[in-house]
Amino acid sequence: MTHPAQPKASHFINGEYVEDTAGTPIPVIYAATGEQIATVYAATPAIVEQALSTAKEAQKAWAKMTGTERGRILRRAADIMRERNHELSVLETYDTGKPLQETLVADATSGADALEYFGGLAGSLTGEHIPMGEDWVYTVREALGLCVGIGAWNYPTQIACWKGAPALACGNSMVFKPSETTPLCALKVAEILHEAGAPAGIYNVIQGMGEVGGALVTDPRVDKVSLTGSVPTGKKVYAAAAEGMKHVTMELGGKSPLIIFDDADIDNAVGGAINGNFYSSGQVCSNGTRVFVQKGIKEKFLARLAERTGNAILGDPMDEATSFGPMVTENQMNIVLGYIEKGKEEGARVVCGGARADMPGYYIQPTVFADVTDDMTIAREEIFGPVMSVLDFDTEEEVIARANDTEFGLSAGVFTNDFSRAHRVIGQLEAGSCFINSYNDAPVEAPFGGVKASGVGRENSKEAIKHFSQVKSVYVRMGDVEAAF
Ligand code: NAD
Repeated sequence: MTHPAQPKASHFINGEYVEDTAGTPIPVIYAATGEQIATVYAATPAIVEQALSTAKEAQKAWAKMTGTERGRILRRAADIMRERNHELSVLETYDTGKPLQETLVADATSGADALEYFGGLAGSLTGEHIPMGEDWVYTVREALGLCVGIGAWNYPTQIACWKGAPALACGNSMVFKPSETTPLCALKVAEILHEAGAPAGIYNVIQGMGEVGGALVTDPRVDKVSLTGSVPTGKKVYAAAAEGMKHVTMELGGKSPLIIFDDADIDNAVGGAINGNFYSSGQVCSNGTRVFVQKGIKEKFLARLAERTGNAILGDPMDEATSFGPMVTENQMNIVLGYIEKGKEEGARVVCGGARADMPGYYIQPTVFADVTDDMTIAREEIFGPVMSVLDFDTEEEVIARANDTEFGLSAGVFTNDFSRAHRVIGQLEAGSCFINSYNDAPVEAPFGGVKASGVGRENSKEAIKHFSQVKSVYVRMGDVEAAF
């Protein structure tokens, strides 16, 4: 019997499901059991061509619609996503292994937020009037054209919407390629957008590995590339896009600092560290994986952290009581276990976890290392798993320098009850998305993105509009033209 997660076909192009079994088969494995639940096929050159030519053609009429008309379609899609939240959350859980407890509140819902928010903004995208004495200049905010979205595997529905919603609101069309690890959810986003009234060809989804992504990025018809992925992939995609002078948004990896001063509320700080390390089993780009704890509260913090981490419920992700799921793939599990071994070898102290969980599926125990030093591998490299490194510090000045001593700059957090210090410290941290007495909130109203190697551009908020549109300026002369001859 066909598994309920099996999509109707691999690709969604020009308003309908399209199959081409000549492409490389991509098995979809459910991380909680290791069982294959679906198969899709990577896009062949013919599928890539079909998606790009369709999207290029469809964009012209879409951009001519009023923003209010486009926005109405996006808001209708948001409503459909909310109505189907349960079904979409189950699919997200099959795609990623993340527990239903999370997917019910964080995935289709945040996708719907993006569709609703950008749907609401679409009708108010305007230029400005610049007086020049008797003349004037007016500006027009125009669509870029054909945008390509390329996704990572941790938030397949959210990423498809965070890229699609602002792109479509501005009058662009999109070809979206999900991660080959989680190919299912973006197809549903495409289906729902078309059900909501998006014209055929405006939002297309095609499957494939890096090769297919590469074919999209280098195509001369593509005007913009928005990638969510790792820094090494980001460097390749950015370079390829530069060849064609394309616009880019790069949402890449991180190794973010979370700084806890000794006057912080310990339970809130522990809660922040848990949210910033163990949500989605640690597979979150903005995670605060370097937890700097001021020496005065170190042992108290670690004791409370170990106690609360012990309350994580590992189990069947479809059981809503489960609060901690498996790694997305066996490969990712092995990478993370390798880092845990490195942490032990290099002398970090295991406070809790530190091994694979004794159960089927790709589960790793939520792991906390203490006595971590800045030069250890687990403190330098992005692990993308449930591994928290706790580092000690003495002074504010010292911790700021150490927090910034990394190639990454996605996020940063500070826990303290001294608000002048909170703002002073945040002001000096090299990161794009920061938190004071909180961690990992990502509302659609707020810009999200990194500095340094963590990325270029911003998603969400009005900032995203700037990255999916461009400004034309028009000088209007009222009098005669003066010329030298
Ligand atoms: P990845 O870099 O391996 O792959 C990302 C996507 O790029 C995939 O769809 C992949 O097929 C595609 N790709 C690979 N090579 C390509 C190429 N040469 N040209 C075009 N496309 C190519 O990342 P991943 O393992 O899927 O995801 C984990 C990474 O993503 C982590 O580093 C994480 O921090 C990052 N991430 C960042 C954010 C953010 O918003 N900043 C969010 C989620 C994940």
